[in-house]
Amino acid sequence: RELPADPVLGRHVRQVHGACYSRVEPTPVRAPALLAWSPEVAALLGLDEADVRSQQFAEVFGGNALLPGMEPYAACYGGHQFGNWAGQLGDGRAITLGEAINLQGQRWELQLKGAGPTPYSRRADGRAVLRSSIREFLCSEAMHHLGVPTTRALSLVATGEQVVRDMFYDGHPRPEPGAVVCRVAPSFIRFGNFEIFASRGEEPLLERLIDFTIARDFPALAAERDPVARRVAWFEEVCRRTAVLLAHWMRVGFVHGVMNTDNMSILGLTIDYGPYGWIDDFDPEWTPNTTDAAGRRYRFGHQPRIAQWNLWQLANAVYPVLQQVEPLERALVGYAELHEAEYRRMMGAKLGLASWRAGATDDDTHGDGYLLDELHRILQAGEMDMTLFFRRLADLDVAEPDPVLFETGLDAGVFYAEARRAAVARDFAAWLRRYAVRVAEEGVPVEARRARMNAVNPLYVPRNYLAQQAIDAAEQGDLGELETLFDVLRKPYEAQPGRERFAAKRPDWARDKAGCSM
Ligand code: AMP
Ligand code: MG
Ligand code: MG
Repeated sequence: RELPADPVLGRHVRQVHGACYSRVEPTPVRAPALLAWSPEVAALLGLDEADVRSQQFAEVFGGNALLPGMEPYAACYGGHQFGNWAGQLGDGRAITLGEAINLQGQRWELQLKGAGPTPYSRRADGRAVLRSSIREFLCSEAMHHLGVPTTRALSLVATGEQVVRDMFYDGHPRPEPGAVVCRVAPSFIRFGNFEIFASRGEEPLLERLIDFTIARDFPALAAERDPVARRVAWFEEVCRRTAVLLAHWMRVGFVHGVMNTDNMSILGLTIDYGPYGWIDDFDPEWTPNTTDAAGRRYRFGHQPRIAQWNLWQLANAVYPVLQQVEPLERALVGYAELHEAEYRRMMGAKLGLASWRAGATDDDTHGDGYLLDELHRILQAGEMDMTLFFRRLADLDVAEPDPVLFETGLDAGVFYAEARRAAVARDFAAWLRRYAVRVAEEGVPVEARRARMNAVNPLYVPRNYLAQQAIDAAEQGDLGELETLFDVLRKPYEAQPGRERFAAKRPDWARDKAGCSM
């Protein structure tokens, strides 16, 4: 309410000038029914199971009813998509219902995704299909439990309506069930919210949005009295949060897939779970985004650099208000340095190292940087499962480091192809010996090291094929698989007896289906 609203009402598609958002209500659906919900997010909002299972809940979070005090709106933003300025984008299928202050005094925005058309829907319908809604719901919460900053998901509600996304399935349009996810975050503001005003030369509005964001979402910066210094400190903080976020993505093997600037949260949260994917075999070249197949701009190993490119676009956008080049450039350099440091810290922890030993030079083979680089090379050349490799490394006997540890087990080890295993066998054995020496030098007792490693190396991640199996069952009306997978992912670092199949490596049949539907 402190920011200007679009004076024009109605859902018709338009360019919105001089405003941060448009008031628009969700479009009602035929038969809203709750499919899944997150107990943790419900608790954050002070809702219990009876609340969530009520018909009123399905009505509100399916988009058919508003609670008193809700003032729904869609935000105006722009963005760089695949490296090019795309103009106005905005919430084309997301509608914020309002915000809730919980008993702890935390403020949470509630936003429906798939709630029908808005002024920003362009040529699309404002709806979401069940499969993409399941993917967003499942992965948001999995990321949270993995310790990765992210928007949350409260609920998944079926609409009872059909949506056509795939126009040419077997030559015919294919109707699919529709669904609405309620996502929850302190703010859904993206880099693109600032870029749109800069691109239009709407500087007073840009300044208002920056100061609003600082005051509301960055209270720690309030101590800085000078407004210009405060805005600079804010940009530095956005760079820092983004650097940390990207280190998390890289440590868990998450590939966002559409790192356009409209999908970059100003709070440093993971936002917009579209065609994301998870790394099975360690491959920095892999992207889940089939529309990005040629350029592979958004491949796994490229993500930290793309985030920096996106921060550059944000710097360009806020420059008219900050009016200083050097602090912005320094912050961007700071991004790269902090990302590198955080990545090293997190990877050192994954390796169970009590401290990071820097080499005398970058290619000093006694440094931990070399140890990690060499591991990356072997994981890729050997086509090894990233998640299972790190989890199993905790069990290595450092007195007698034996590669056989990685070749046995439920799923016959961490390798995807015998030929690739054989090709790296000698290097891998040598690496394990070197690693064992390094670990032994630190003198940490075996049990303590294993406990520390298991606390940072997940056993369960939402592998693409697992999500797909849950989706296939849900589309047939069976929610059991989704419920079980969702529950497994609530404790990703704890071995869950009887649930070993969720920790298995990707089966052969899923190999070429590892790409993901949006
Ligand atoms: P994304 O690639 O998901 O980040 O979306 C880019 C833009 O397209 C955003 O402005 C979205 O709101 C919009 N968009 C995506 N899907 C739909 C849809 N089904 N209906 C309306 N707008 C959409
Ligand atoms: Mg988006
Ligand atoms: Mg999306």
